[in-house]
Amino acid sequence: MKSKWRCFSSFIVVCLLATCDAPQPSKGPDGMMLEGRTMGTFWRVSLAGVAPERRAALQKAVQQQLDNDDHELSTWKNDSVLSRFNQYRGSDPQPVSNNMADIVTLSLRIGQQTQGAMDITVGPLVNLWGFGPAKQPVKTPDVQQIAAARALTGLQHLQVINRAGQAYLQKDLPALYVDLSTVGEGFATDNLARLMEREGINNYLVSVGGAVLTHGENAQGNAWQVAIQKPTDKENAVQAIVDLQGHGISTSGSYRNYYELDGKRISHVIDPATGQSIQHKLVSVTVIATTALEADGWDTGLMVLGTERAKALALRNKLAVYLIYKQKERFESWMSPQFAAFLSPSSAH
Ligand code: ADP
Ligand code: MG
Repeated sequence: MKSKWRCFSSFIVVCLLATCDAPQPSKGPDGMMLEGRTMGTFWRVSLAGVAPERRAALQKAVQQQLDNDDHELSTWKNDSVLSRFNQYRGSDPQPVSNNMADIVTLSLRIGQQTQGAMDITVGPLVNLWGFGPAKQPVKTPDVQQIAAARALTGLQHLQVINRAGQAYLQKDLPALYVDLSTVGEGFATDNLARLMEREGINNYLVSVGGAVLTHGENAQGNAWQVAIQKPTDKENAVQAIVDLQGHGISTSGSYRNYYELDGKRISHVIDPATGQSIQHKLVSVTVIATTALEADGWDTGLMVLGTERAKALALRNKLAVYLIYKQKERFESWMSPQFAAFLSPSSAH
């Protein structure tokens, strides 16, 4: 979905640390780990209790499903289902899959709950700042350019319709450009979990980019553990470890995907209210929710809002949120009580 390959799960690492798994007798066949690439990032599936002979078929099934998801949601592919909707210049309802309808419905809801901070119609601004398929600008976009791109955005211009069992997307602005990049990884992660269930597999950890979902136990018979990294390129240290208890987790980070322009760091997260790339001190937002899709939607919205508004919204909506922000050149962290409930006893926090 994205142009540049990113390192696997920039902030969330599937826990392979000694501290994560106390030695216990292994039950059934050993764990299996599958990996590959999709949507401009990496995917990983760890399984327990699955016969080794199933490896090749599972690897193929996972890759195929992810390729299908990408073909549906990508704005980087001209012929994806989403790109065709973006290219369409009319206002008639366009038939889409139930998956697409679900993603857009949830994204619009989180958009409203974050007062428009998470906005999947932000595409024209993302492209203007050079984080879409278009090239990076050589100079900072001016006020007129930003205003022109902003005029093409707005959640109110997009609707999901369900009629006689068929889902449709409808826009009332011909040039509306829907960008699902920020929820694609979360959706694909949930979809991998559904694939595992269909395959009769109950003990799995599935992950696409910065989104992870776990179910059951690992090969040692322990809860899966997910580590949140400290926010620096140099260190590989662990900040906190969580046991997801069947939930999804996703992290949004403001500083790993950026470039410098006119002496400023330009992040790929855009504040739809101003049309500017975010500039505040919030470094990463991690959210745990029932699904990885939901976690992935919230992390972006909270990232746009900045530390104080993100804290207030997390508390008001009882969200499981972990923030890392910069204060006087030091990294500080904050977690909501709902997030603390997921902390693993072995957490380094
Ligand atoms: P991260 O890499 O920090 O996890 P994501 O990949 O989830 O972030 O989302 C970043 C992408 O989302 C951007 O590249 C852009 O395509 C899109 N985007 C940027 N700003 C917003 C926003 N305010 N709301 C929704 N999507 C956005
Ligand atoms: Mg996100």
